[in-house]
Amino acid sequence: MSTNLKLTNLNLEETRKGLVSKDFSVKELVTEYLSWIKKSNEKYNSFITISEEYALEKAEQIKVDENSHPLAGIPIAVKDLIITKGIETNCASKILKGFIPPYQSTVISKLEDAGAIILGKTNLDEFAMGSTNENSAFGTVLNPWDTNRVPGGSSGGSAVAVCAGQAPISLGTETGGSVRQPAALTGTLGLKPTYGRISRYGVVAYASSCDQVGPFARNAHDLAVTMQTISGYDENDSTSMDVEVPNYVEQIKNTTDFKGTTIGIPRSFFSDSFSKNSLNPEIEKSFQQSIKTLEKLGAKVIDIELPSLKYAISAYYVLACAEASSNLSRFDGVRYGKRTSNASNLKEMYEKTRAEGFGPEVKRRIMMGTFALASGYYDAYYLKAQKVRTLIINDFKSAFKKCDLIATPTSPSTAFKVGEKMTSPVEMFLADIFTVPANLTGIPAISIPSGLNSENLPIGFQLHANVFKEGDLLAAANLFLKEQPFEDFLSRGGQQ
Ligand code: GLN
Repeated sequence: MSTNLKLTNLNLEETRKGLVSKDFSVKELVTEYLSWIKKSNEKYNSFITISEEYALEKAEQIKVDENSHPLAGIPIAVKDLIITKGIETNCASKILKGFIPPYQSTVISKLEDAGAIILGKTNLDEFAMGSTNENSAFGTVLNPWDTNRVPGGSSGGSAVAVCAGQAPISLGTETGGSVRQPAALTGTLGLKPTYGRISRYGVVAYASSCDQVGPFARNAHDLAVTMQTISGYDENDSTSMDVEVPNYVEQIKNTTDFKGTTIGIPRSFFSDSFSKNSLNPEIEKSFQQSIKTLEKLGAKVIDIELPSLKYAISAYYVLACAEASSNLSRFDGVRYGKRTSNASNLKEMYEKTRAEGFGPEVKRRIMMGTFALASGYYDAYYLKAQKVRTLIINDFKSAFKKCDLIATPTSPSTAFKVGEKMTSPVEMFLADIFTVPANLTGIPAISIPSGLNSENLPIGFQLHANVFKEGDLLAAANLFLKEQPFEDFLSRGGQQ
């Protein structure tokens, strides 16, 4: 192995080339990643569990040649909401601390079949509830661009892993923006797929009608390879869809301009007082610049109306909390995870286990969700929110009759200071204003790094497509980054 080559800086194609031509071995690659993770985790707290023994054992077994799968021997980081057989999965919650799953999630089976190697489980907001990663029972994740700031959430650990070169690709999950928002705040790419595109078997449920797995990467090609590997029908997940998975890598190679593509912009939504107040002017400026880049590449840009979007946050938080209150009832000290040691009867055991095991944000959401589902309030909150959801779906359906892609910023602001949003849950909720629509409607969306603000913090640009059009988003991201390149954290010399 040549000594000046930093393996942790390489993209998938470069890594693959090195493995096939035996410039370095899978074991050397994995060892280098593991030692960087162990060193940098003290600074970023992005991993809850480092699966060193497992990774080294796999590295011995996997042989890579030109016929192997593109992910053979490639190290990956996995959000700790995704079940990994034999590797602790605790969802950043005390209630599941020490839980070693006896079965494998479908996404991890697919990655393992391809020969990818899990380096560890990444930190998150407890049970994926949050937008800053400060709700973890294992401490806050810090943003490599500025360690006084958060990386976003809830998949902040997976975003940081890719941003800081702790893994070339990682998996997160999305319920209301938890891949795209931290991607925007860390200068990485993050994709939220169509609902049903990727199996949720073995993904711990938060709000099942929105939950999806989504990958992070530092370029569109690496994201496409990951999507290609983990997508597809799974008979173990009744919500997964039997729709053919196109060749995403071919599609991005074959797309050379935006001619014939119409991009819709919901301009009146930005000037709506609700979003206007929270949209940072530097982000708005960067957004206009990104639109110009699309036009330069041949896209036709039109204005569209999404009139119900202003109700998206309110509807999302009613629905997400309602579903969470039901999903999290399974953590009761009986089946798995923590059981209180000081209860004198069954009822007290349930109550104390949950009181001791869940953190404050999870408790808040269980209470809000239980309230919204209670008889007497169900019609006023849950049913109303479902109706709003239908209106938003209809808005997007009409918009996609006029355009192919819909552009918005990903996040109304850049990375927040640690603690900045913790005193106001509502302000924290508002950070998701541009991401929740894709989750409520089930459509795919991508966050693409589009520049830095005056404080050197990354800004994200978001594109939405119609259902099962992930390939269009990946191709668009690839073209966009060629025309408007983004100097990521590593290429700015960010890694020590
Ligand atoms: N921030 C949103 C929430 O707290 C989204 C979280 C997610 O996508 N998992 O619900």
